[in-house]
Amino acid sequence: MAANCFGIFPRNDPEQELRLKRFFLGIAAYFMNSAFVLVCWRMGYFSSTIVTRYAVLTITFNLMFYCLIRSGLNKRLADPSLTFSQMAVATLVVFNLMYFSGDARNTYLVLLLSMLLFGLFRFKTRDFAGLAVLILCGYALLIALLVRQRPDGIVLKVEILQWMALLATLAQFTFLAGYIGRLRHKVRVNNQELAKRNTELEAALQRISDMAIRDELTGVYNRRYLMERVAEEAQRCLRNGSVFCICMVDIDLFKQINDTYGHPAGDEVLRSVAATVAGSMRQTDFFGRIGGEEFVMVLTDTLSEGALISAERARKKVEQLTFPDISADLRVTISIGIAEHVRRSEPAATFKRADEALYRAKEGGRNRCVVDAVFHLHGASVPELRA
Ligand code: GH3
Ligand code: MG
Ligand code: MG
Repeated sequence: MAANCFGIFPRNDPEQELRLKRFFLGIAAYFMNSAFVLVCWRMGYFSSTIVTRYAVLTITFNLMFYCLIRSGLNKRLADPSLTFSQMAVATLVVFNLMYFSGDARNTYLVLLLSMLLFGLFRFKTRDFAGLAVLILCGYALLIALLVRQRPDGIVLKVEILQWMALLATLAQFTFLAGYIGRLRHKVRVNNQELAKRNTELEAALQRISDMAIRDELTGVYNRRYLMERVAEEAQRCLRNGSVFCICMVDIDLFKQINDTYGHPAGDEVLRSVAATVAGSMRQTDFFGRIGGEEFVMVLTDTLSEGALISAERARKKVEQLTFPDISADLRVTISIGIAEHVRRSEPAATFKRADEALYRAKEGGRNRCVVDAVFHLHGASVPELRA
């Protein structure tokens, strides 16, 4: 924080940082000007007093601008970039030099014009025209002052000619400033439009990739994605001996719900059950709808004992669901068949065993979880089959 307060650039405000960078670009232009001031001083055009005054004026004004921007006070002004004020001040400083520079005056006129080129890319036409008027009036005033107070070496008709050339140049600059301003505006609008399109595209892409893996009605994973993930889990199991369980979830007597309350109510029940079961699971597990009112929970790194606990938790949550928008009497239950994947077996075989366990849950009276008893049926010990 301290470094941020005392650093040359404000690190947390990109706009202000950019303004300060532009400010330092202006300082570079001052350095170039200063070189000419020193040359003129060496050549005897300027006295030490004029050079000192130039230095004091330049340092004071620039320190003032720097403090204004660095403190953030500039943000309260109509033109927070202070470009116009900086250019106006620079123009006045240059006029001051021109007043004393005798027949070297045109050197500074050329420097002034080159300085104006910065404004071409920054200003609106109106501001640029304002600056041009300021320069033209300032230059006319300068000539008038020179004619009155330092008439030696002033040829009025040459000065008027030069003033008119300055007028023509500034008029062309102003026209160019307007043209560049319109281009800048176009680029900005296009960029905004592009950014908007990009956001829309990203959202559409997200929707499409969601559609590819999600079930439209319930929002949980679809059958295809679920099968892919189960195949991956089976591979993991083969490679590093990890375990996982498949739980087939089926809503009990769902046909009756549809018949009693209508298909839209049935859809609502499907959505609620899906959200409830999904919400009861761990982040690392996954859950999807494989069709109709049948769902699958895939519990990773879980043995059948743990799967039974998870399945029971989901079953109880569904049992507690109420559907005030459909009917106060409506209660929904699910039956779950659980099968632990056996290493080197096909995922389809695990699904089949889970389905058989589900069938037994239905036969046993529904609203219950049944674990597939393959380990015991085959007479092998559990650790042997899991190895
Ligand atoms: P069980 O307890 O034995 O599972 O009985 P059940 O009535 O749930 O089983 P059954 O397979 O006979 O009925 C499933 C019903 O699910 C039949 C079908 O109309 C309904 N169903 C399938 N897909 C949808 C769906 O997308 N929306 C709605 N509302 N109903 C659906
Ligand atoms: Mg069914
Ligand atoms: Mg059913």
